[in-house]
Amino acid sequence: MTTVTAYAAPVGKAPLERTTIERRPLGESDVMIDIEFCGICHSDIHQVREGWGDGIFPMVPGHEITGVVTEAGSKVTRFTVGDRVGVGCMVDSCRRCENCKAGLEQYCLDQPTWTYNAIGKDGQPTYGGYSQKIVVDENYVLRIPEGLSLDVAAPLLCAGITTYSPLKFWNAGPGKRVAVVGFGGLGHMGVKIAHALGAEVTVLSQSLRKKDDGLRLGADHYYATADAKTFTDLAGSFDIIINTVSVPLDYAAFLSLLRTSGALVNVGIPEEEVQVSLASIFGNRRSLTSSNIGGIRETQEMLDFCADHQLGAEIELIEAGQINEAYERVANSDVRYRFVIDTATL
Ligand SMILES: [Zn+2]
Ligand SMILES: [Zn+2]
Repeated sequence: MTTVTAYAAPVGKAPLERTTIERRPLGESDVMIDIEFCGICHSDIHQVREGWGDGIFPMVPGHEITGVVTEAGSKVTRFTVGDRVGVGCMVDSCRRCENCKAGLEQYCLDQPTWTYNAIGKDGQPTYGGYSQKIVVDENYVLRIPEGLSLDVAAPLLCAGITTYSPLKFWNAGPGKRVAVVGFGGLGHMGVKIAHALGAEVTVLSQSLRKKDDGLRLGADHYYATADAKTFTDLAGSFDIIINTVSVPLDYAAFLSLLRTSGALVNVGIPEEEVQVSLASIFGNRRSLTSSNIGGIRETQEMLDFCADHQLGAEIELIEAGQINEAYERVANSDVRYRFVIDTATL
């Protein structure tokens, strides 16, 4: 066992505090990673505050992890000491079901092992990236390409793949009109990636407050959803709408912005149940759907794509002592655009 410093919520809804946790002994297919950076995802806050149900406490959140391999087990073949690597939302899965075999480990029929707030195959709780080190099976570790620095790469492990995967699945590219609802951690990556894929990109944000950033980061158009005229001007416009907002919206209004056969893809999941009339998808074969991160192979593809296009996240680097304040600011949508913890300050 290795004892490492971490930041944890001792019980549900409590502020995070400095503590220590144990990392498992290195198995033959494991690597030990010295964590350098970890992004703060909105889902960290949902889980610490038990908005999606009961959590496992103490909870060490964090699934946007980048760092360097410091030890490799005897049967590790893909990584060596010194490699720059990342860990995202999952650290294992059954590896046998049809989804795992197809590279869709995030939809493992036996449930993936999430990076934190889950029970690992050793029967112990998993702890995430707000910590100094992590031990992960090499099959669930990503390579960070040269050309991407580890701080701006960290948010790609969740925010990047969460937007990349549906953009690819629903064929974003030249000639396609993509709208991104919400311009925060997920939304700004969705804009960068959709633009790099060659799509025409529109941001649909509550206000025009971040319009300059939106246009600078790759959007062609930027509209305020607080203005009812947006919905009449843009009716029937989009092939794909990626909704990154995790509070319930007027889904019928957003569905009305799709072209025939277009898809409204939800990647932000509200804590409450939502209601929608099927009449809003019936007339035009529209889809109301969702997408959950991406598989390991696709996550590597996304990292390579981002390196090729020089796409990192826009970040605010913070010290560990600022985590609780950062949570308040994320809850108030007051971040441009992702907080990343410098884990040297743990
Ligand atoms: Zn996340
Ligand atoms: Zn599986």
